[in-house]
Amino acid sequence: MAATIKVTNPATGELIQEVKADTEEEIHLALRRGHESFRKWSKINAHERSRLLKLWSKKIQEHKDDLAKIMTMESGKPLHESLGEVDYATSYIDWYAEEAKRLYGRTIPANTESKRIIVSRQPVGLVAAITPWNFPAAMMTRKAAPALAAGCTFVVKPAEDTPLTTMKLIELAHEAGIPADVIQCVNGYGSEVGKIFTESKYVRKITFTGSTPVGKLLIRDSASTVKHVSMELGGHAPVIVAHDADIDLAVEQTIASKFRNAGQTCICANRVLVHESIVEEFAEKLTNEVKKLKVGNGLEKGTQIGPVINEKGFNKIVSQVNDAISKGAEVLCGNKYNANREKGYFFVYPTVLKNVNENMKIMQEETFGPILPITTFQELEEAVNIANSTPYGLAAYFFTNDYRTGIYLHEHLDFGIIGWNDGSPSAAHAPFGGMKESGIGREGGVEGIEPYLETKYLSIGDIYK
Ligand code: NAP
Repeated sequence: MAATIKVTNPATGELIQEVKADTEEEIHLALRRGHESFRKWSKINAHERSRLLKLWSKKIQEHKDDLAKIMTMESGKPLHESLGEVDYATSYIDWYAEEAKRLYGRTIPANTESKRIIVSRQPVGLVAAITPWNFPAAMMTRKAAPALAAGCTFVVKPAEDTPLTTMKLIELAHEAGIPADVIQCVNGYGSEVGKIFTESKYVRKITFTGSTPVGKLLIRDSASTVKHVSMELGGHAPVIVAHDADIDLAVEQTIASKFRNAGQTCICANRVLVHESIVEEFAEKLTNEVKKLKVGNGLEKGTQIGPVINEKGFNKIVSQVNDAISKGAEVLCGNKYNANREKGYFFVYPTVLKNVNENMKIMQEETFGPILPITTFQELEEAVNIANSTPYGLAAYFFTNDYRTGIYLHEHLDFGIIGWNDGSPSAAHAPFGGMKESGIGREGGVEGIEPYLETKYLSIGDIYK
């Protein structure tokens, strides 16, 4: 295992900090401590766990500016987005601090007078989490908050690109009074730490947010000890703009969905399917707005599009754009880069492509960059077929003012999250997650705490002597 992890600023390539990677022994020790502290933490009453979660949220808010700066420096996202992510991250802690008090069981009428049946909910045990770089705060808190609220203990391995935000959040959890062994952070390479997590007898649940191929490996490796798994995986969100849509709203919301975090979110609008009768107007209005987006270092005022995270991500974007152009796509704006492989920064200017078709990589592979491909459809059924044609099923969007079209699309799109005239559907109080190869389980809402609970059934006999 590497001794240190170099964390660099993707806007400049400069080294921010070297983080010590944990050794195998240290990771095993963290898991053992997490396992041992479970007995005590799970017995603390729910109101006290709730109180500690609220204190954690408060601490994070007190350090909001520092955290946002760290996040922008290690992830590249514009500062106003990092500030927004801190609020989004604490919204999960606030929500689950309340849900901790509502983990109700039930009684079931028995089929004999001498029995009583009670169903209770109990925490699964030690939870091991692996998180991605694109939302270094929120992807962690939306796992840690329900886990701790349920009475589980928690160990997280953040992405190598962005460990600093997570480390600061864990430090603040300890300052808030959550015991050090109850919530821990370990650092290291994904494949190595993943193996230790999945093989550990102490870990009862793996919760992962990241790419579909890695999710599949973790599901496979968790089978040997039959761990619970929750998987928040990749997406390839379609946007369907029906002939009767409010075009200005569709343009505004598509841009909000696509260009946040330089197009590096799992629910980003990735394929825009526009009714052929309105495609010219839609494409023109959209392109005019996209051309105004300001590209730059996320710490600079006014920046709307930061760098992409690293060279691997950059290469994938360039390959998708070149593939589309070579197969006949028309560039409406963008297709411009400011990249320096030696220094290690990669900026992609927001790009809109028209005349794309399903044979292009950009319509099949997840796109993680500020690239928006537009295609057309005639019949709604055709749009649904294109939308459902990939293995992904995370988020989909549609724009229509016709309730029949809306209901039809809602019922036929195979996606876990659907935005109807809405490009920003994420919220702590709603269940977030994917169908098909986009995942297993939901995070957020009342559903988001379920994966951290076991159902225990007690049958009491011989009531009457
Ligand atoms: P990734 O390569 O799968 O990495 C995510 C995390 O997994 C990182 O911490 C990484 O560690 C770790 N990892 C890598 N290889 C591993 C292995 N063999 N075993 C165990 N862990 C391993 O994904 P990414 O490219 O960083 O993140 C973007 C992906 O996340 C996209 O596909 C996106 O759609 C998805 N995502 C999904 C959601 C959702 O809610 N559905 C939300 C955000 C992102 P290292 O950094 O050390 O490699």
